[in-house]
Amino acid sequence: MNPAIPAINVDVAIIGGGIAGLWLLARLRERGYGVVLIEADRLGSGQTICAQGIIHGGAKYSLHGSLSDSAQAIAGMPARWWHCLSGAGEVDLREARLLADHQYLWATSAPSSRLTAFFASKLMQSRMEKVEKVADDLPATLQHPQFRGVAYRLDEPIVDVASVLTAFAHSYQDALLFSPEPISSAVNGTLTLHHPDRLPLTLLPACIVFTAGTGNTALPWAAQQLRPLHMVMARGVNLPGPLYAHCLGVSDTPRVTVTSHTDAEGRLIWYLGGGLAETGVKRNRGQQIQVARQELTVLLPWVDWTAVQFATFTVQRAEARQPGGVRPACFSLRREGRIIAAWPTKLALAPLLAEQLEQQVRTLAVQPQPLASCELADWPRPEIAISPWDREELAWS
Ligand SMILES: Cc1cc2nc3c(=O)[nH]c(=O)nc-3n(C[C@H](O)[C@H](O)[C@H](O)COP(=O)(O)OP(=O)(O)OC[C@H]3O[C@@H](n4cnc5c(N)ncnc54)[C@H](O)[C@@H]3O)c2cc1C
Repeated sequence: MNPAIPAINVDVAIIGGGIAGLWLLARLRERGYGVVLIEADRLGSGQTICAQGIIHGGAKYSLHGSLSDSAQAIAGMPARWWHCLSGAGEVDLREARLLADHQYLWATSAPSSRLTAFFASKLMQSRMEKVEKVADDLPATLQHPQFRGVAYRLDEPIVDVASVLTAFAHSYQDALLFSPEPISSAVNGTLTLHHPDRLPLTLLPACIVFTAGTGNTALPWAAQQLRPLHMVMARGVNLPGPLYAHCLGVSDTPRVTVTSHTDAEGRLIWYLGGGLAETGVKRNRGQQIQVARQELTVLLPWVDWTAVQFATFTVQRAEARQPGGVRPACFSLRREGRIIAAWPTKLALAPLLAEQLEQQVRTLAVQPQPLASCELADWPRPEIAISPWDREELAWS
């Protein structure tokens, strides 16, 4: 401990500034807790900046024909995020950008694909509405005489993730602490922050919450699983305009999920996930691009894909370990003493996770006491992560 700077008492120290940590920070701050968030890299630099930004309402999890635990857990999330985006919710996300207020589920002409969509629509009823082919409601990309499928409109907004991170950073800047040496665990209940330009800073938190994504491996008692994705991005003047849609195949994972974004130079980017990204972990970059081209050519044959450029990258999803390594039905948390490890499982579930974490903090009898420390006031702040399509190291071809 540095003798020059006394240790600082805080109610809650959050380790990791992805969506889970930031939402918790906001929730606890609004309730008067003295809380800080420590980030070793840029905010959202793990999974959050790679998210497609879909605020799921459960349709994706109803594709196997029954209302799964996942679908029920996530059902209320679009409404909860809408409240926040309008400024009337538990956190103020008015500064965040909405990319689309709904997305589509699109079945090809294959009978199995149509049947999957039909059963999901019966389950989701009020939140999934069939779109007539003649109506302008069909996304522009699908308004083509060769389109033989069926489309449903889903009540699920898509947010620009970088702007969500920025909204949190602006509101809670004073509580964000950049410590490039990753926090591994608490020694005797204390945390020490390091920065090359500063003397080490010691915190004495009443409770520590790890929302560090893959960094939660620092806690040996919090068993974690990693599930990789091989994501694909496409850009070029031939892209037929923005599209936000799950395209169904025969399985209960969408064949491909498309969201649309704009890169730093103003170019349209199609960001492709779903089954393509899950099965793509077995393929190298070249193979993954070839499969993506083939998929798009089969699904949208009226688009000229020859001049479209592609790039890929892999990323790990970090979750609490499950039997068989399957995706958890909801968020997860584990506690040992006064240290909690948490995983939202989905961006969309961050509000629900924060609510549960607040209850845990209450259980630990932490009394809210606002922070008053000048050492924290001028400590360096983390920047916002760079969107995947703007990364310089990417090779487009
Ligand atoms: C490609 C992809 C697409 C997705 N799309 C969607 C979607 O459309 N909708 C949806 O609901 N969900 C989506 N998800 C899931 C969602 O992104 C994640 O569930 C969520 O972002 C996890 O957030 P997190 O805060 O737990 O972790 P992360 O976002 O990984 O954040 C962890 C943070 O902790 C920091 N950190 C790590 N270790 C340390 C340490 N030791 N000390 C200090 N800091 C540390 C990291 O730098 C990072 O900033 C997607 C996930 C992926 C990978």
